[in-house]
Amino acid sequence: MIKIELADRVKNLPPYLFAAIDKMKQKALSKGVDVIDLSIGDPDIPTPQHIIDAMKKAVDNPAHHRYPSYEGMISYREAVANWYRERFNVSLDPKTEVLSLIGSKEGIGHIPLAFVNPGDVVLVPSPGYPVYPVGTLFAGGESYIMPLKEDNGFLPDFKSIPEDKLEKAKLMFLNYPNNPTAAVAPKEFFKEAIELAAKYNIIICHDAAYSEIYYDHERPESFLGIEGAKDVGIEFHSLSKTYNMTGWRIGFAVGNKDVIFGLGKIKTNLDSGVFQAIQEASIIALQTDDAVLSGIRNIYQDRRDTLYEGLKGIGLEINKPKATFYLWTKVPKGFDSTTFVAHLLENAGVLGTPGVGFGAHGEGYIRFALTQSVERIKEAVERIRKEL
Ligand SMILES: *Cc1c(COP(=O)(O)O)cnc(C)c1O
Repeated sequence: MIKIELADRVKNLPPYLFAAIDKMKQKALSKGVDVIDLSIGDPDIPTPQHIIDAMKKAVDNPAHHRYPSYEGMISYREAVANWYRERFNVSLDPKTEVLSLIGSKEGIGHIPLAFVNPGDVVLVPSPGYPVYPVGTLFAGGESYIMPLKEDNGFLPDFKSIPEDKLEKAKLMFLNYPNNPTAAVAPKEFFKEAIELAAKYNIIICHDAAYSEIYYDHERPESFLGIEGAKDVGIEFHSLSKTYNMTGWRIGFAVGNKDVIFGLGKIKTNLDSGVFQAIQEASIIALQTDDAVLSGIRNIYQDRRDTLYEGLKGIGLEINKPKATFYLWTKVPKGFDSTTFVAHLLENAGVLGTPGVGFGAHGEGYIRFALTQSVERIKEAVERIRKEL
């Protein structure tokens, strides 16, 4: 046997905290516990039928069985541009300002490779999607953590970032509506971010995966809809959450053409694009009548109201989310996020995600996902009530 040693970039990965939780869940299941899993950020609602039908038809076309184009079919990129114009009144050149992705995670993970040299700084929010610091690590960059604090609306405080870090920063990741805190960013905040980016030459990568999952008919802002955004950055989007297509693996990046070009360069050398049949179905998805999306939002809104009112009634501290399908809940006294998750699983058979899994600044919270039916959520609340 040869000696097989992992590369430093793998050895240096942060510990995967969810593995321990998964073990606990498996143990509970094997004991026959009826676990209500509110830890999963993956819609339980199936992909709408008209999208599935489009896929079935597209699969029969032999033209789609060959390698796709790297940047995505022009018809797909046009559908993305139309979607943007209709929703956000943003105009995009489908040829240079739109790029297909194999899910937005793929683009987010790869973008530091295009712009970050070893030693460069990437500004990363905590708590946040773990791919931001990991993509940075894989590119040899250094994450500078921007804490998202409740008293600042879970927005980073740019004034607290040291000057030398700003000078070394190449990229900044932002994500609103935010996973895991469910915060929404006001226009003013995006303006501030654009000013900062322009001053220090920082590329903004805004992750808008949850832009369509919102409540009370208040559509969140698109970063790209703010004046000057296209000069400093791009926006990542996904069909995953909007159209319940997490398994299909398709998303897109839009915005600054030089940034899109750089990301495209990396992709041309690493992957060969998205299966064209999936792109065809996604064109149909992007044309979905808003009534369908509104129906999906109503389902989440019922669940949100049920879980929010339920947990608040028990005395847990919680902000009512305006968007996303998460509830970012304060851990009660006497617990940290990991011990509270373990306590709820062992004593109530309800599983949440410990906030610390999203970075050190997630400690003190747990995340509940609205990816179960209202009936199951009611049952979860009842069980937690009896326990606390
Ligand atoms: C789910 C999610 C994504 C989307 O991932 P896909 O790869 O497009 O499925 C991106 N960012 C955040 C914050 C997410 O929660």
